Amino acid sequence: MSEDIISCEEVIERLFAYLDSELDDLTRAEIDRHLRRCHDCFSRKEFETRLREKIAASGTEKAPDRLRQRVEALLGNR
Ligand SMILES: [Zn+2]
Repeated sequence: MSEDIISCEEVIERLFAYLDSELDDLTRAEIDRHLRRCHDCFSRKEFETRLREKIAASGTEKAPDRLRQRVEALLGNR
């Protein structure tokens, strides 16, 4: 099999650069191809992507949902 140019280890090593779009097109394409074939690496990528979205969202949200729900519950229980 000559199609797999990079290994899982290399994908993991480059995952953060991949998510930050810091890779050259060739490396990025190789990782894309690996992710389509490798479920383990794909799951890891999905996990990291969601984690980053959560961190980004919590950084910009002024009133977290949990706090708002608590306030609404307090108001409702008067
Ligand atoms: Zn893999």
